[in-house]
Amino acid sequence: MAAAVHHHLLRLLSPPPPRPPGRLFFWPAPPHPLPVRLRSSLPAPSCHRAAVADQHFVDDEFVVVTFYKLVPVEDPRAEVATHLHFLQGHDIHGRIYMNEQGINAQYSGPRKDAMAYADWLRRDHRFSDILVQVSPAPCGHAFPRLKLRYKPSLVQLEGGSCHLPLVESSMRASPLTPSEWREKLEARKRLESEPAGDTSGRNVLLLDVRNGYEWDIGHFEGAKRPNVDCFRSTSFGLSEQEMDSSDPLHGVDKENTDILMYCTGGIRCDVYSTILRKKGFGNLYTLKGGVSNYLTSEGCAEWVGNLFVFDDRLSLPPAKFAEEGEREDAAQEQGGIDTGRSSPSRWLGRCYVCGSEVEELKHRNCASIDCNRLFLCCRWCLEELRGCCCLECRSAPRLRPLLPGHQRYDKWHLYRDATSSTLHISS
Ligand SMILES: [Zn+2]
Ligand SMILES: [Zn+2]
Repeated sequence: MAAAVHHHLLRLLSPPPPRPPGRLFFWPAPPHPLPVRLRSSLPAPSCHRAAVADQHFVDDEFVVVTFYKLVPVEDPRAEVATHLHFLQGHDIHGRIYMNEQGINAQYSGPRKDAMAYADWLRRDHRFSDILVQVSPAPCGHAFPRLKLRYKPSLVQLEGGSCHLPLVESSMRASPLTPSEWREKLEARKRLESEPAGDTSGRNVLLLDVRNGYEWDIGHFEGAKRPNVDCFRSTSFGLSEQEMDSSDPLHGVDKENTDILMYCTGGIRCDVYSTILRKKGFGNLYTLKGGVSNYLTSEGCAEWVGNLFVFDDRLSLPPAKFAEEGEREDAAQEQGGIDTGRSSPSRWLGRCYVCGSEVEELKHRNCASIDCNRLFLCCRWCLEELRGCCCLECRSAPRLRPLLPGHQRYDKWHLYRDATSSTLHISS
């Protein structure tokens, strides 16, 4: 709370720093993130994986793979052991969680290894229909290590999600394919632009169920967010009495409103829709495979900005997903898919400190390890606050150095134990 007040005060007290006159200033292209976590305080080696991949087999390219499946699993701990056994000899890093309700996986690796794991899993009839999503990881692993284990809740949710009827598909929102989703959004926009409006009596609510910081760098045009700033909060879908009147779900006609919900990969909507279903919302739809699947097949139509991803890449422009879609289509089609207009990022990405536009739609963690908040920052505030999110953090005791670009911070003890001479990367 104190941090929030501070942001506000700072915004009020200090006008945005002056821009260089004449032309738009662009933050220098950041160095590529490290393929692995920075192990020392030495300057980061530059990434050359992409260049190398061009000359060798495509199988050597690093990719990030995501999939999930909500399905009853009788003995998840035994399955974890089987998966660990299979992955011996495969170069896979990431988060793979299993429990009685299914599996949720996000991992990186060379395409050959990454796909071998997904293919192996699909040979199991329970997982034969999983939607495996692939996106490029040009700088190697996007996760520091492999965490494959039993987890009581497949997604972070206050109080856990094991009490929710996640494996009952009738309790979840109806999935729409990306093209069906696009049609719905385009129909909605047409109706809104007509003076008579919709005469069918049906309303449409486009609901983004991701976190505020994800929304800030990209979202569907015309979407609304629930009043909670974090997915894990169970205050989502509160009763009418409890709900703030500014919440998009407040006063919604549960019978006559189509709620179109979306998230990054789909699992959060599956969880949230069971909560809304229990609250009496009847017409719930979700984007199958989430935004990443949509951008892969539909390009950035109706989408503005970038997509936040929960790995070292942090943020991906729609074109990166479209490339993967093109790869899939290459056998049948000549040329690329239409990715729509270029991403109008100028509407998005305000510095959380001063409110000015940021040049790159990519977050960083506050340099104060005790805050670690993900925030968007302009280059002036970045230098002024030395990578901190506010003045308060700037004077916090446990500060990490300002790293160039968007490198991931190393373990705190390495900074704590570093002598001043090895901290030269901070300047
Ligand atoms: Zn700023
Ligand atoms: Zn902070």
